[in-house]
Amino acid sequence: MKIRDFFTKFPDEASCKAHFKSKREKQGVVCKRCGHGEHYWISTRDQYQCKKCKYRTTLKSGTLLHGSQLPYHYWYFGTVMPAGTKKSFSAMEVQRQLGRRYYEPIWYMLHKIRYAMGKRDGGYTLGNEIELDEGFFETVPDKENRERIAKELRENDGKYKRGKGSQKQTTVLVMAESKTVEATYKYRYGTNKKVGHIKMRLLDDLCKETTNKEVERSIDGQSSAMTDGANNYNDLKENLAAHGAVVAKVKKEASKILPWVHIAISNAKRLLLDVHHSIGTDYLQSYLDEYCYKFNRRYFDSVFDRVVIASVSCKWERNVQTIG
Ligand SMILES: [Zn+2]
Repeated sequence: MKIRDFFTKFPDEASCKAHFKSKREKQGVVCKRCGHGEHYWISTRDQYQCKKCKYRTTLKSGTLLHGSQLPYHYWYFGTVMPAGTKKSFSAMEVQRQLGRRYYEPIWYMLHKIRYAMGKRDGGYTLGNEIELDEGFFETVPDKENRERIAKELRENDGKYKRGKGSQKQTTVLVMAESKTVEATYKYRYGTNKKVGHIKMRLLDDLCKETTNKEVERSIDGQSSAMTDGANNYNDLKENLAAHGAVVAKVKKEASKILPWVHIAISNAKRLLLDVHHSIGTDYLQSYLDEYCYKFNRRYFDSVFDRVVIASVSCKWERNVQTIG
């Protein structure tokens, strides 16, 4: 959906609510108390009443909008901004466009939408030939680590560690389905590999165990992986059918061996820096979830509808800090 079409289709609160209601009913409203699937609609209260036990459920209950005071129109606008464009938007921008006085509810709403996106993608695993590499994203340390880092800085004359493991960065495992196509086929990015779906997941450290755990969760066991041969990939074969490692002699070569993870990392970094300027470590996963969700649906016309369906079928269960 394009932004222009959005305003034709959803000019007001009533049109958004009616759309949300129809999507919810398509999924089926189930009684929380007795599990019955048939309900009456009480329009004066925006509630469903179970035909069997008379238990009432609100339209928002059990969805991403559960407990939200914001109008449906805000939710829909917050969805179409990222879903209908190639870009991402800061909460500040969405707040400005909506003319809303308070920042926090908008910020929270956008995080919930990203959460729904991440949850959707979390249900899929990558398969076949996979490129694996780490990206180091610049972040602002969260509360939990702020004191520790301040202490480390004091001990090191105020200097940050350099390279891998720097306190300014967060490690992300980037995985991309990357299939080799015929050598005569020249792809537009100068590689003969074609990308499928991608995943990006925060890593606590670069231990083999941490990497393996994430790989087990994100990649189908029948797949084969290609890496740069770093130590944290040593035991990949425990979870995957095959592992090939090519160590790049010069830095430039690395992006030829693992083209798609490098393209994904640099595009994501640029996008996040442009839009959000600085990102707290706690929230990086959520922004990456949005990036991957959109990347994985880059050929779809109906991203907006898909995000609405994801919002209807997923309940916000966790605190923002522990997304993923
Ligand atoms: Zn019931």
